[in-house]
Amino acid sequence: MKNGVVIVGAGHAGVQAAASLREEGYDGPVILLGDEKELPYHKPPLSKTFIKDAAAQPQPLRGEVFYTGHTIDFRPGTLVERIDAAARRLELAGGGDLAYDQLILATGSRPRLLPLPGAHLAGVLSLRSVADARLIREQSAACEEVVVIGGGFIGLEIAATLAAGGRKVTVIEALDRLLGRAVAPLIAEHVRQRLTASGVRILLKTTIERIEGEDGHVASVLTSSGEHLPAKMVITGIGVVPNVELAETAGLAIANGIRIDTAMRSSVENILAIGDNASYRHWQTGSDVRLESVQNATDQAKLAARTVLGHPGDYVAVPWFWSDIGDMKLQMVGLTAGSDRQILSGDPAENRFSVFHFIGDRLVAIESVNRPADHMLGRKMLGLGFSPTTEQVAGGAEALKAALAALPAG
Ligand code: FAD
Repeated sequence: MKNGVVIVGAGHAGVQAAASLREEGYDGPVILLGDEKELPYHKPPLSKTFIKDAAAQPQPLRGEVFYTGHTIDFRPGTLVERIDAAARRLELAGGGDLAYDQLILATGSRPRLLPLPGAHLAGVLSLRSVADARLIREQSAACEEVVVIGGGFIGLEIAATLAAGGRKVTVIEALDRLLGRAVAPLIAEHVRQRLTASGVRILLKTTIERIEGEDGHVASVLTSSGEHLPAKMVITGIGVVPNVELAETAGLAIANGIRIDTAMRSSVENILAIGDNASYRHWQTGSDVRLESVQNATDQAKLAARTVLGHPGDYVAVPWFWSDIGDMKLQMVGLTAGSDRQILSGDPAENRFSVFHFIGDRLVAIESVNRPADHMLGRKMLGLGFSPTTEQVAGGAEALKAALAALPAG
């Protein structure tokens, strides 16, 4: 393969794909293109610590020597504008082009835009990149009141972080609960109560009529209940949309993401897709999903490398995710879709508990708050296809460990 593998997008998935190609023994050219100018960095700390700590630096995914040492041709500040799939060439912004033998699209996702009057005002921000995080950090230092639109993971992490840094934060959520799509109602309510106790104001069942400005800068937000909330900063956290435009114009099949099979292959020969931008039929639920997590990006990247090398595997990794919201470490493993029975283990009053989700007797997911042992055991149990009994769940981590230890070897 003389042109080698070109990876578009130098985030969690793209960098892991480059690393895995070398780990798997690929010795042709590996070219990693990223439109950002930074050395690729970890995204999760941005909303958890970076935006309140003036001295924080981005945490590189790999040190600079990793790229040189593994002969990975990393080209920052390189935006790919078009794929010519028939000619196996990329067109780059600024006029250059680049041939590939195999192409891995790891273009991630971007914040969903808010179709609201005033959304264009200065001070209305969202968070995806370290550049966004720097803006939030700089501008929030100079404002007392912040409105966060959207009570999902990112919005709540930002709210908790800015509140801990002394800002007066109001979260506005359209649904009647937080974290609507993602966790059990018990956990959503727990998070609401603790955030409220820590000083974050949360308005459920509330939408925004408009964002109001003064001299081109946001000054307040008018809610559906008629309240004017003063704010010099509004942060929108209403979800992301996958970056599929490159793929779409090249004729790849798209359905809430670039459609891929279990070996990360798109509908077009020699083009793979991984990470936040890819959708696929999930082995656990049988339904189509597009997951937005570091685990998904990393595991898909490893598989993509294997596919490029001609020994594809199937994507059957157990999905997991974490989020730090104030003093709550939330950890999720498995998928809750279809869950018809839940067992609570631990005590919400102690801010340490887990919700075990079952379909019938089959364990499908565990959601934990400050119970990392349950999460790690959950990864094992779901990986092995083992479902604990109600008594074993009630017995806590020790009983679950014992149940796993008693399983026949192999
Ligand atoms: P990204 O990491 O977004 O990388 C895609 C890269 O491709 C970007 O650099 C983008 O600029 C670039 N790109 C796009 N188009 C082009 C183009 N045409 N040419 C060149 N480059 C291009 N996940 C968790 O599991 N736990 C967490 O706690 C967590 N916290 C998060 C906090 C924040 C603030 C954010 C933003 C995300 C968080 N996530 C978390 C999600 C996780 O970071 C993503 O799922 C992960 O980054 C997906 O990796 P990716 O490589 O698909 O996309």
